[in-house]
Amino acid sequence: MARIFCIANQKGGVGKTTTSVNLAAGLAAQGQRVLLIDLDPQGNATMGSGVDKRSLARSVYHVLLGLATIAQARVKSEAGGYDVLGANRDLAGAEVELVDLDDRETRLKTALVPVDADYDFVLIDCPPSLSLLTLNGLCAAHGVVIPMQCEYFALEGLTDLVNTIKRVHANLNADLKIIGLLRVMFDPRMTLQQQVSDQLEGHFGDKVFKTIIPRNVRLAEAPSYGLPGVAYDRSSRGAQAYLSFGAEMIERVKTL
Ligand code: ATP
Ligand code: MG
Repeated sequence: MARIFCIANQKGGVGKTTTSVNLAAGLAAQGQRVLLIDLDPQGNATMGSGVDKRSLARSVYHVLLGLATIAQARVKSEAGGYDVLGANRDLAGAEVELVDLDDRETRLKTALVPVDADYDFVLIDCPPSLSLLTLNGLCAAHGVVIPMQCEYFALEGLTDLVNTIKRVHANLNADLKIIGLLRVMFDPRMTLQQQVSDQLEGHFGDKVFKTIIPRNVRLAEAPSYGLPGVAYDRSSRGAQAYLSFGAEMIERVKTL
């Protein structure tokens, strides 16, 4: 059975896509069969996997609207060693088109059933909103990985997301849980970040992943080459951190 995880945080630019792409590549590098689903009309996870979003014949948009199956729409990320269900601007219209459809929150979940046996992990890169797209991700998933920067308002921003996860858990997906909080873009020289990091551990305990992703320019450069950071410069501190995070996730799922 595939383990299905959303990478979500309604705050923009916190490292969701970087985490999705590099966790996918990090898991693949450790022999896991991975599908990365781009649920964001920005298509950054698609491009960052080396797949040109403009040339997609079929995308997650077609899957959500029942115009294609995942088996028909997935493509290979040669750079990352995993499969991609890509997204592009088509997806921006999906929100409106989905509203009138039956089971509008569970369309991704249903679409995943026939490919479940093909994968060990399915990762869903969510857009920076708590929209119907994100809701489709949350309904399909066993858990949520929340990347966050250790900033002053980080905890406050979590409240809406945690409440949404609770609501989905109560009404639509009893399987859903928070797998963990991932500290990203971490700079240990900044005292405030260290303090917030300590606070997170105090407050959330085991729910905070042990791996910390440092701020590392190689991770930011990689997408412009159409490569996951893990493939672009495997020896960089950022890539090494995501490889460790992959190993931590493999261990973590055994306890679920
Ligand atoms: P959005 O909400 O727009 O989808 P996001 O949460 O997916 O954004 P990313 O696109 O992953 O965030 O990251 C935002 C920016 O920060 C990007 O330019 C990315 O390259 C950079 N970035 C992410 N993680 C790191 C890191 N660990 N070190 C350095 N730069 C990073
Ligand atoms: Mg993103």
